[in-house]
Amino acid sequence: MAETVFARIIRRELPAQIEYEDEEVIAFRDINPQAPVHILVVPKKPIPTLNDAAEEDIPLLGKLLWVARHLAQRLGIAERGYRLVLNCNSEAGQTVFHLHLHLLGGRPFHWPPG
Ligand code: 5GP
Repeated sequence: MAETVFARIIRRELPAQIEYEDEEVIAFRDINPQAPVHILVVPKKPIPTLNDAAEEDIPLLGKLLWVARHLAQRLGIAERGYRLVLNCNSEAGQTVFHLHLHLLGGRPFHWPPG
C-alpha cells in the first residue's frame, strides 16, 4: 500500500499541530479546517480504509472514538456538540488512505449533510 502523508506526520517527517498522542493513536489539526475545531484522529497502524480493518482492530477503532471524546472535552466543545466523520473510499470523499476520524466542532452543523 502506498505511503500516505499521515505516515510521514506520525514519523515527524512532516509538521503538524499535534493535539494528542499515545502509542497507538495520534491526533492533529486538519490543514484545511472545515470548522473552528477540526482534528484528525488517526491510528498509527496504517489501515487504509474502514473496509480494511480486521476483527483484531476493534479495540483500536473504539479507542479512536474515546480519543475524539477526550479531545472534545479538553477543547470545550463536548457540551455544545460535535460531529465525527469517517469517510470510506472515494465516493464518500476519502482522500487520504490511512483510516482517520474527523472531529468537528465550534459551529452548528446540519443534517442531512448534503
Ligand atoms: P478525508 O477526505 O480523507 O476523509 O480527509 C483527509 C483530510 O486530511 C482532509 O480534511 C485534509 O484537509 C487533511 N490533510 C491532507 N493533507 C494533510 C496534511 O499534510 N496535514 C494535515 N494536518 N492535514 C492534511
